[in-house]
Amino acid sequence: MDMEYDQAVDASEQTGPYIPEAGECMRCGQCVSSCPTFRLFQIDEETPRRRIRTISKVLVENLPISDDERHHLDNCTQCRACETVCPSRMAYGQLFDLARAQFQAEPGSLAKLAFKLIENKSWRRRLMPLLAIYLKSGLQKPLRRIGLLKKLGLAEAEALVGNPALQALATSYSARAAMRGRVALFTGCIAEHFDRDTLLAAIKLLNAIGYEVLVPPQQGCCGAIHQHNGQSAVGLINNNIAVFNALDVDAVLHTASGCGAMLSEYQADDDAAAELFKQRLQDIYDFLLKHWPDDLQLMDSTLNVAVHEPCSQRNILKNQQSVYALLQKISTISITPLADNQVCCGAGGSYMLTHPDNSGQLRELKRQAIGAAQADLVVSSNFGCAVFLSSDSVRVAHPLILLAGQLQ
Ligand code: SF4
Ligand code: SF4
Repeated sequence: MDMEYDQAVDASEQTGPYIPEAGECMRCGQCVSSCPTFRLFQIDEETPRRRIRTISKVLVENLPISDDERHHLDNCTQCRACETVCPSRMAYGQLFDLARAQFQAEPGSLAKLAFKLIENKSWRRRLMPLLAIYLKSGLQKPLRRIGLLKKLGLAEAEALVGNPALQALATSYSARAAMRGRVALFTGCIAEHFDRDTLLAAIKLLNAIGYEVLVPPQQGCCGAIHQHNGQSAVGLINNNIAVFNALDVDAVLHTASGCGAMLSEYQADDDAAAELFKQRLQDIYDFLLKHWPDDLQLMDSTLNVAVHEPCSQRNILKNQQSVYALLQKISTISITPLADNQVCCGAGGSYMLTHPDNSGQLRELKRQAIGAAQADLVVSSNFGCAVFLSSDSVRVAHPLILLAGQLQ
């Protein structure tokens, strides 16, 4: 059996939840109907059960897998809905990452560049002004028209960039009420440039309830994109643990559920350091709810808001109810869950870039649910899902932006 797999199983037996071997799947099929790719293709090859069989070949039986098996495994969006219904408590996400790390081929030059950009903050800072010039240049329309971006596999990536913020955030933001403590904000790799409004909303809310917010500039990507694509995330994980553990703060808060899910499952060679990091890690919704002052009122709103629940929030963090509880602090607002929230929207981190056809079909299903909701606004706690689902007719924003906008 593979050494890395052995170690992961041993570690889980000592400290974490029970993680069965891939070969322990009972083939009961309870996971089948929860799988978004089964919804699309309606064939057994596109079920978690069949993928677990392929993973078992890789991790347990040391057997080669066919191109077809590899193709169907790669089609997985990594939503982990299957984990929530499996009676064997199959740790599908972890098993998938371990299997993919074994057979992942050397990434192509574009993928290598993307990994480097995610890893390296100074590279990203240098790229931002060039990106801003490109976005202002008017080149987008002709390039889209001749289909060059699509040919280069950049069409979906280009749609994500919006108007990037070029400057870094400040390293600290003082409380605007009587000071109650200090927290650190996890911003990760791209949020500072592309999801600045959410981070500023988080800071505004935390300052309003009496917390100073630190934004350590040495922090980096959570490592999810690397880990889920067969690359090592060890350097990124160790860096974040060291940066945040060195701070004198009451909590480390994340705003994007995709990053939060990865951070909450950090494992490192230094177990004690990883545990300390996870002990102080909290989702910002849970923190705001716990520390919300009795006398802090938000302005009323008559908006009809539909809530999209990202898979990382539903299936891993499992705290989607905190979003509803926090939004209810806006009196007179109407809040409804989006229909079929249990089905992945297709964004899936980098999945929308690597599998544009599958993700486009899943997005279409989600957009039908959004249309049926007839909401003024859709909120989603994951930046990737929000950008992926937004369109000219539908605005999808982070719930924190809505909440911060209602501060008096
Ligand atoms: S629900 Fe779990 S045990 Fe049943 S087939 Fe799916 S992965 Fe296997
Ligand atoms: S993670 Fe999601 S897409 Fe992948 S097998 Fe499980 S339910 Fe299907």
